[in-house]
Amino acid sequence: GFRSRAAFKLLDIDDRYNFLKPGMAVVDLGCAPGGWTQIAVERVKAGKDGGGKVVGVDLLEAEQVAGATIFQADFMDDDTPDRLKALLDGPADAVLSDMAANTTGHPQTDHIRIIALAETALEFAFEVLAPGGAFVAKVFSGGAEASLLTQLKRNFQKVAHFKPPSSRKESAETYVIAIGFKGKAPVRQ
Ligand code: SAM
Repeated sequence: GFRSRAAFKLLDIDDRYNFLKPGMAVVDLGCAPGGWTQIAVERVKAGKDGGGKVVGVDLLEAEQVAGATIFQADFMDDDTPDRLKALLDGPADAVLSDMAANTTGHPQTDHIRIIALAETALEFAFEVLAPGGAFVAKVFSGGAEASLLTQLKRNFQKVAHFKPPSSRKESAETYVIAIGFKGKAPVRQ
């Protein structure tokens, strides 16, 4: 079984966009309790002969998922990206972020926080993604912020918003999916 209902969201996203393939290297940001990690491991065949690799991080402790390597840290800490890069030990084919901070009850603060997480995840993706790679991030209600969307559109072949059928209708969450990273020297403005 899956560790979280969230697992079904990544299944929905990848069933629609098909970016997870055997042999790929995947980064799973905000991975606890490990549902997306389980799906990623299955789809890239991580830990198998000729299979791929999955590395993940979360603020919270999570049980290891066979075939993946996950650790507990704040992604926003200065050294976390380097720790992920060391585990990856090469380029990534997909950077996935299901990160969401606890809501404060102050909508503006919550909005700023989720955008900051997605923007930092994208900066990291620019550093590690192989050409052709994919980026997925959770965003809320109105979708990705204009500046985030602009950066995505300039640096990926295809950018879309997608609310997985498994995401509760009442929830404001949606995902921005960017496919076909154009390569290094990203255009930041
Ligand atoms: N995708 C996961 C799954 O399938 O099991 C569920 C992820 S849950 C919706 C969001 C996660 O983001 C939480 O576990 C939370 O601790 C994590 N998170 C939020 N801010 C973070 C940060 N700054 N660094 C690392 N993880 C963070």
